[in-house]
Amino acid sequence: MTGTMAALVYEAPRVMTMREVAVPTIGATDVLIRVAYSGICGSELSGFLGQSSIRTPPLVFGHEVSGNIVVVGDAVDDNLAIGTAVTVNPLISCGRCRYCVAGRQQLCPSRLLLGASLPGCNSEFVRVPGRSVLPLPEGMSLESAAMVEPMAFALNAVGLSRATPTSSALVIGAGAIGLCIMQVLMASGVDTCFVVERNPARLAMASGLGGIALDPEIGSFTAQIAERGGGVDVDVAFDAVGAPETRRHCLSAVSPGGTVVLAGLHSDLTELPLNTLIRSEITLVGAFAYTPSQFATSLNWLAQGRVGLRDGLVRAPLHDGQLWYERLVEGHPASKVLLEPTLHPVG
Ligand SMILES: [Zn+2]
Ligand SMILES: [Zn+2]
Repeated sequence: MTGTMAALVYEAPRVMTMREVAVPTIGATDVLIRVAYSGICGSELSGFLGQSSIRTPPLVFGHEVSGNIVVVGDAVDDNLAIGTAVTVNPLISCGRCRYCVAGRQQLCPSRLLLGASLPGCNSEFVRVPGRSVLPLPEGMSLESAAMVEPMAFALNAVGLSRATPTSSALVIGAGAIGLCIMQVLMASGVDTCFVVERNPARLAMASGLGGIALDPEIGSFTAQIAERGGGVDVDVAFDAVGAPETRRHCLSAVSPGGTVVLAGLHSDLTELPLNTLIRSEITLVGAFAYTPSQFATSLNWLAQGRVGLRDGLVRAPLHDGQLWYERLVEGHPASKVLLEPTLHPVG
């Protein structure tokens, strides 16, 4: 395929412009996908503001994708036929290093990420390696397929927490990742899940999933957890924000022997009371991306309807992308914004 396509290009902090760019040419092991949906990820908002070291202009953002195959390279597997509806694991690893061999491709030192080190899916077409493509099971919608990436992230975060059905949990931040973490916890049998979220619309979504809301305005959560949880302690706490204070809240809320999973990348440097961590034998663990096996599980769980974001979902034309990045930066409560290259702007 040759010619040009529409792409939303990040050109400077807070500036994303629709441009006509060349359709990517594919190599023998690549496929070209016509993008149906491209989800906006919370991790891209700092990039949009010019605060991310891995997203520098000019760049096409987007790594949460679903669509249909339009061109297949000569050396790509036969099961990837033209027209197949697919999603893509956007983390492209070398496949040979000790992390890749051990199945932890997200730690590969030479990994590449769509929409950061490679052009992303905020465009009509995107080029990806054939081995990163996952065909959708019969009947799965393209809309739900664009959610596989954030749900895979949540599967990894919950896996690292080592929560069991008898654990109780705390999730701070009910954006897409926080909501996905809550769903994975509940699908794994965890039925007591406290949640902290400042935005009322997002808090309502978290409560709708069965979360027990804590008031973020009260300094410590310990008393509220004791009161609301009927004596239940927090065994696992998830920070889905990444601010110094939300990290400290997780650490102070978790009970001795518990685990704190850090899943938000908002701030880098954070002061933490590490003597508390030592004396209470708390495990502090970072969660980044997902393994290919978690990505496949996420796809299956979404296809089976075990998990899925339905409330607060926004579908918007790719042409309005700049507006939606702005709105999300300013705290719009959408659980997920899916950009559609084929939709035309309103007005
Ligand atoms: Zn993402
Ligand atoms: Zn590798």
